[in-house]
Amino acid sequence: MSAMPKDPTPAEERPAGGRPEPRPGVLAIEAYVPGKSHAPGVEKVFKLSSNETPLGPSEKAVAAFTAAGRRLEDYPDGSATVLREAIAKAYGLDPARIICGAGSDEILNLVAHTYVGPGDEAIFSAHGFLVYKIATLAAGGTPVVAPERELTADVDAILARVTARTRLVFLANPNNPTGTYLPFDEVKRLHAGLPAHVLLVLDAAYAEYVRRNDYETGLELALTAENVLMTRTFSKIHGLAALRIGWAVGPAPVIDAMNRIRGPFNMNTPALLAGAAAIADAAHVEKAVAHNAQWLPWLTTRIEGLGLKVTPSVANFLLIHFPDTPGRTAKEADVFLTRRGLVLRMVASYGLPNSLRLTVGSEEANRLVVEALAAFMAGSAGDSAGSPAK
Ligand SMILES: *Cc1c(COP(=O)(O)O)cnc(C)c1O
Repeated sequence: MSAMPKDPTPAEERPAGGRPEPRPGVLAIEAYVPGKSHAPGVEKVFKLSSNETPLGPSEKAVAAFTAAGRRLEDYPDGSATVLREAIAKAYGLDPARIICGAGSDEILNLVAHTYVGPGDEAIFSAHGFLVYKIATLAAGGTPVVAPERELTADVDAILARVTARTRLVFLANPNNPTGTYLPFDEVKRLHAGLPAHVLLVLDAAYAEYVRRNDYETGLELALTAENVLMTRTFSKIHGLAALRIGWAVGPAPVIDAMNRIRGPFNMNTPALLAGAAAIADAAHVEKAVAHNAQWLPWLTTRIEGLGLKVTPSVANFLLIHFPDTPGRTAKEADVFLTRRGLVLRMVASYGLPNSLRLTVGSEEANRLVVEALAAFMAGSAGDSAGSPAK
């Protein structure tokens, strides 16, 4: 009898005629609002709001997806063998140390549900990816926010917030929506400062885009340390966001624990086959890297040339900061651009009400954005959200 867990609200104390009540913490979650994909009344829309690639997926991935569509009656391989082996081959890993998920969002939720419960804490930085907070609250845990310095994660601020209750530290490197990153030395310093009971989750969703000698994905730590997990995605450079494919590599006991609570068929067959084909197509990835390497600096320079502040980014998106002046605000810029079919991302939910996030797009989209921003900045203040250009 006494070994039974106690029901927090005994049946006789629940209000008669009440309704189903979510667990504590659930209603504290502000549901994730994805980037807009429509511009009402505009024929040609450029979706630059969710960091998708303008190059689309590899043709080989599309062919694998199409072929998989002819065999939908069988359950998928619950252990995602084809995909884990393709990833292992691409990175020289042991497939047993890899777990796949329906997007890295599922992986981030799995890790939270595996390690965090009521009373436990998870730390992330002030402008960190919103899913960390949602996953922590959904698991019943307490989010702990570490301030940043110049829109960049601050290792000392994170370490200062570690307590006996800390179970996870989430770090997006590079971070979304800021586009900033921590050099590997700093990531190692963060890891070295964490007690052994804390799992460091390194989210490297944009790793392929980074061209900095002092950057590492964290793979080395995930392979050698007992408490580091690195997560990756097929949604960004591989252009397969619609299929929901993410993965993680880490210590065997961590992967084993996550596998126990993962849905047995969390990955679908078209995703497994398309993902395996995508990761084998290194030439397609290189094309996307080259496109970004050309247009990221071009956009940065041109937009700064309009008198707007841009946070230096190493990813495939830019954070543009607008003045507080009426007629020049981020909100008004968003309206102005959307009317021209240029859909950027408002990031007020990330605590950045005066900024917009712009995904590097096709050449056409990039040129149109710069032209439209120039028109916006040239318009008379108070009136620049006015009529759309024809
Ligand atoms: C886009 C993104 C992901 C990827 O999410 P998926 O669920 O794999 O589509 C993960 N982390 C960050 C920081 C991102 O911006």
